[in-house]
Formats: sequence, structure tokens, C-alpha cells
Amino acid sequence: MKKVAVIPGDGIGPEVIGATLEVLKKVAPGQFEFQSVAMGGNAIDKYGEPLPAESLRICQEADATLLGAVGGPKWDNQPPDNRPERGLLGVRKGLKVFANIRPAKIFAPLASACPLRKDIAEKGIDFIIVRELTGGIYFGKHEAFKTPEGERAARDVMEYSEHEIRRIAHVAFKMAMGRRKIVTSIDKANILTVSRLWREIVEEVAKEYPEVTLNHLYVDNASMQLIRVPSEFDVIVTENTFGDILSDEASQIVGSIGMIPSASLGDNNRGLYEPIHGSAPDIAGQDKANPIGTILCGAMMLRWSFGMTEEADRIECAVDEVLKAGLRTGDIFTEGTKLITGSGMKDEIIARL
Ligand code: NAD
Repeated sequence: MKKVAVIPGDGIGPEVIGATLEVLKKVAPGQFEFQSVAMGGNAIDKYGEPLPAESLRICQEADATLLGAVGGPKWDNQPPDNRPERGLLGVRKGLKVFANIRPAKIFAPLASACPLRKDIAEKGIDFIIVRELTGGIYFGKHEAFKTPEGERAARDVMEYSEHEIRRIAHVAFKMAMGRRKIVTSIDKANILTVSRLWREIVEEVAKEYPEVTLNHLYVDNASMQLIRVPSEFDVIVTENTFGDILSDEASQIVGSIGMIPSASLGDNNRGLYEPIHGSAPDIAGQDKANPIGTILCGAMMLRWSFGMTEEADRIECAVDEVLKAGLRTGDIFTEGTKLITGSGMKDEIIARL
């Protein structure tokens, strides 16, 4: 029995998580023990803090964690260190996940939702961004100070050590081995010392994967190439801040925010799986939320934490079939397709498993 900690969260979180659990129970009956965990705004209401120690303990002891989304206007006036999003950082840190993996894949039936030129989208878009998650400028020293002249100033330090770069590079090369065997490492080595170290270590790691082709791109050029020739990318590896920005760019290339899953992985297989969207308070409780991003997180969890490739394939195929049938939630609806509810989308996917 595989133990899965489940964090429904706030807003549409419980809706998309509920749909995903139904899909997982259908595709692999009796194989999971799900344990629901309080985190985010609901945990603040009940326990006075966004990530109670008991919640984190359950996640740490589980084989994998599935998360909906947290936050909402109700908790906007909480002090910064007691906001729902603090729970997110806490659970990532507590699970020691350092690699955030975001696939950017265009489902053929949704090609018309791609904002890129038709001839570019038609070449196919299917790449993965491997973003370093626990280092770089977000975790360096932050300082606001006064200059000797009395002017206000601030600095944030970007720092990476060798082992942090090496372990994320290994994640990227291993992923590439199961795909088209191309890694693109993105940095700013023409300016940043950190990037020059990044490049040096990535090249060292590449020697262990002779079948994989390694390219380097500067981040400003990469942001252009992602729009110009997205079909040429397979696996992208990059540091925390560049990855944060480029993965949002990638999510728009492939359509709605409601469609995209993500996984955060550490040294073991105990991943944290979450859709990239937030709690969408504007549509919560109205059965409008697209559950596909979270359902695809379930498929990623099966594939990467549990090695259940066949079941993962079945979920992804069922999603593809539903889209081919022209069924759409509001966020991906276009003229000529049929509008259905979030729970309707879940039922249609289950019917095709
Ligand atoms: P959001 O992602 O919640 O919503 C942005 C827009 O996308 C909204 O119009 C929403 O209706 C739509 N949307 C999002 N997911 C959708 C889905 N599955 N189906 C259909 N439409 C969908 O971002 P936001 O409005 O900036 O943030 C709302 C709250 O979520 C905030 O409190 C924010 O801090 C929090 N947040 C949480 C996470 C997380 O838990 N990982 C991530 C981002 C934002």
C-alpha cells in the first residue's frame, strides 16, 4: 500500500484534489492509502498556523505528497510569517525537495489555444523545465541598508555551491535519458560568476551521460528561443530565479494555467506534486475549476514516485481523449467546443480510463 499525504488546501484546492483522488482510485484500485493534511488558510483558521508540525510529519512519512493550492483574500492581512504561502515554503523545505519539474506539452486538440504562430505550434511543443528550487538569490542574504551618503539601498546575494549544481544537473540528464536526450542549460555566464561555476559543473556532469547532447544558452536569448523555436527544446535545466520566470513563460505557450502539473523532487522518490495554479478564489465553489492540471500531477506521481508507468499513460491518454472529444472547462473553452463543469470534466476522464 502506497502512503500518499494529501493537502487539499483552500479555494479550488479541495475541488481539484477531490477529482484527482477519484481518478487515482479508479486507475489503481486499493493501491493507495490517502491521508488528508491541513495546510494553508484552513490550517490558520483551525490551528492558528499555516503548517502545523503534525501536517509536516505526515508528509515526511508519506511516500509522496499531493497538493491542491493554498491562499485567498481571507488571509491577506495575516502577518508575513503566518500567511498560507508560508506553509508552501515550509513543506518544500521539510521534504527537502530541490528540483522543480514542469512539463510544457501542448495537447494536440488544444493547439488553437496556443498564443504562438500556427506554423510554430504545429511543429509540436514538448519540453521539461528542471528548476533548482532551494538555492540562488531567493535563499541568499537579503539586506536593506543605508549608504555612507545616507541613501537607501538594498542587496540580495546569489550563491550556489558545487553540490547544489551537480545534483540538479543529474536530475536533468537522467530525465533527458528517458526522452530525446538533449539538455539545454540556461545561465548568464557572460556576466555572472555564479553562472560560470554553473556551466563548469554542468559540463562535468555531462561527461557521465555521453549519449546526451548538452547546449548552453544565456537566459535572455533563451526567453526568445522558447517563443521562436519551442519544438527544439527537450530538457531545460536552470537556477531558481531564471527557472521561476521561464516556467511561467512556458506555461503560457502551452495554454491554460489550469492544465499544467508540476513535481518537486529530492534525493529520494518522495516527491511533492502540485498544479501550477493558485486557489482561484474568483471561481471557488462554483464547479468551474479545471481539474486537469492536478489530475496530471497524479499521473506524474505514479510515474516518478511509484514507477507505475502504464497507469500514468492511461490517465494522460484519457485526458487527451476528452480534449479530442471537444469537451472543455471555461478556461480552455473556444468556439465550437462544448463547455462542461469541473466535476463533469473529471467524470469524462474517468469514463475513458
Ligand atoms: P490563481 O492561479 O489562483 O488564479 C489566476 C486566474 O486563473 C484566475 O482567474 C483563476 O480563476 C484562473 N484559474 C486558476 N486555476 C484555474 C483552474 N484550475 N481552472 C480554471 N481557472 C483557473 O492565481 P491568483 O489569483 O494570483 O492567486 C489566488 C490565490 O492563490 C492567492 O492567495 C495566491 O497567493 C495563491 N497562490 C497559491 C499557489 C499555490 O498554492 N501553489 C500558487 C499561486 C497562487
